[in-house]
Amino acid sequence: MSKYSVPYEGGCSCGDIRYRCLSEPTMSYHCYCRDCQRGSGSGYGSRIALNTPDFELMRGDAKCHGTGLDEGTRVRRYFCPSCGADVCSINTQVEQVFISVPGLDDPSVFQPQVGFWTSSAQPWVKVNDDIKNYETQPTMEELVEHFRSDG
Ligand SMILES: [Zn+2]
Ligand SMILES: [Zn+2]
Repeated sequence: MSKYSVPYEGGCSCGDIRYRCLSEPTMSYHCYCRDCQRGSGSGYGSRIALNTPDFELMRGDAKCHGTGLDEGTRVRRYFCPSCGADVCSINTQVEQVFISVPGLDDPSVFQPQVGFWTSSAQPWVKVNDDIKNYETQPTMEELVEHFRSDG
């Protein structure tokens, strides 16, 4: 079903940063939180999660610009220091990298499964109702439960 052809690659707008993904995403999601709005410069962030060892930086050095600011996330966000593109965020607690989907060379393979922080969604954003949405950040247990019942 998936159209990812592993490994797949991506990078920033200017090309200074290039990375390679060594496995299919563990999770694909939209996030409507204020951090993702600000970080992406749009209504929400679309990201795929990978286990940290499956994310390989091939060129460049993304700079961390602080942790999640307003909603208690323990996430560090990385941007290209040259062009400012939102590259990824890293949650060291769960050892996952969350890659900004538009940075992928082929973003069309993305298939969102869940949505987070719909309570922060802007009135001018249409929340994707085809997928399971959470008003805030679900617990790891809730997510595991969702994906178990989802098959
Ligand atoms: Zn760049
Ligand atoms: Zn978010």
